[in-house]
Formats: sequence, structure tokens, C-alpha cells
Amino acid sequence: MQVTEIYRSLQGESTYAGLSCVFVRLTGCNLRCTWCDTEYSFYGGKRMTPEEVFDEVVDLSPSGLIEFTGGEPMLQERELVPLMRRLIESGYRILLETSGERRLEQVPAGVVKIVDVKCPGSGERDTFDIENLKALLPHDEIKFVLSDRSDYEFACDFTLRHALDRRVNAVLFSPAFRKDAAGTRDASKCLLDPQLLAGWMLEDNVPARLGLQIHKFIWDPALKGV
Ligand code: SF4
Repeated sequence: MQVTEIYRSLQGESTYAGLSCVFVRLTGCNLRCTWCDTEYSFYGGKRMTPEEVFDEVVDLSPSGLIEFTGGEPMLQERELVPLMRRLIESGYRILLETSGERRLEQVPAGVVKIVDVKCPGSGERDTFDIENLKALLPHDEIKFVLSDRSDYEFACDFTLRHALDRRVNAVLFSPAFRKDAAGTRDASKCLLDPQLLAGWMLEDNVPARLGLQIHKFIWDPALKGV
């Protein structure tokens, strides 16, 4: 497997936010979102066997929460799926962060899929494979990263049209962060003001949860490996 980094930190997003979590960031992505904050994962990394990844995860955390992220982890599906299965059998709770551009039906049922459906402002609209709606399970989560009002309207429409709130555990609306955000840790670094988004969500009574990337409010937004 090609791996950019493995580290333990607090989970910053989803309904698991705030929990201690081991992150396995796999190298490579087939999308190029305009606001991507992990471009360093597109290339490089180091070659590891699934056994080496397993051992490093166990060293960092003998039990608990593991997230596979990227890049796009499903580009390494052939090795990733058996590894996730092995970790589940060993008692771990596994989160898989994916854009849903790759097919997800081979993901083991015990894995919590956090699917980042791309909005127009990402520049990668319509990359979500609509067939993946059938692979969603009640414990899964759908995330929309929003950079402006048209992203918000896209997310509302998609959520309502596909009754997402009845399919998954949570629908998350999350303001995008500026790519060059560094230094101060405050909402001014968001492309879309969380207060504005909160107002829209309340006004429309959207069946979704406002999500903030809390790691960017705890640590310097430019910091890697947190
Ligand atoms: S899918 Fe994720 S890693 Fe890939 S470009 Fe978009 S935000 Fe970056």
C-alpha cells in the first residue's frame, strides 16, 4: 500500500468528532477539489504491506477508532478491504472517508462510510457515483463541504431528493476552509461563514447537522498530522 502518514489525534469531523482516533492517510487521489487541504497526499508516501500498516495501527492504539482517509483510500481497494476486515475482526471501529467516486459495495458492512459528496464549488461536481446510494447503511454518514450559497442549495436539494436523512446516521454540512489558512484559529478562515450557514439551516429547517472541522480550531489550520 502507498501510505502518506499514520498518526493518532482527535477526530475532527463527523459524529465521531472529539474522539481519539488513529488516522491512516493513503497516498493518491483522482480528484482535485479547489479547496483541498491534503494536496501533500497526492504523491509520494511510503510503500507498506497491509501487515505493516496493521502493526503500526496496533502500536498507536491497541483498541478504538481508526480512520482510513486520503487522498482517496478506495483507489487502493484491493489491499484496503481485507485490511479493514481484519481490523474489525480485531475489535476496532473503522471509519472510511471517501468521495464516493469509486464503487463502495465491496466495503465491509462493519465499516462506517463517511461519504463526501462533492458540491459545485469544489470543481468536482457530479463525481459521486449515484449507484453508491444503494451501498449506504444506517450507520454511514454523508458530508457536503460548502464554499458558498450555491453549494448549500446543491446540498439541500441532493439531501431532500434522495431522502438522505432517512438513509444514514447523519448528513453533515461543513463550511470549507481556506486552503492558505494558517496561524490564527477562527471562523474567518472558513470560505463560508459558519454563522451564515447556521442561519440558512435554521431558516430552511434542513435535516442535516452543521459540522465544523474542530482540529482547525484546536491547532494551527496549516499543521499536518493533527
Ligand atoms: S477528494 Fe479529498 S483528497 Fe482528493 S482532492 Fe478532493 S479533498 Fe483533496
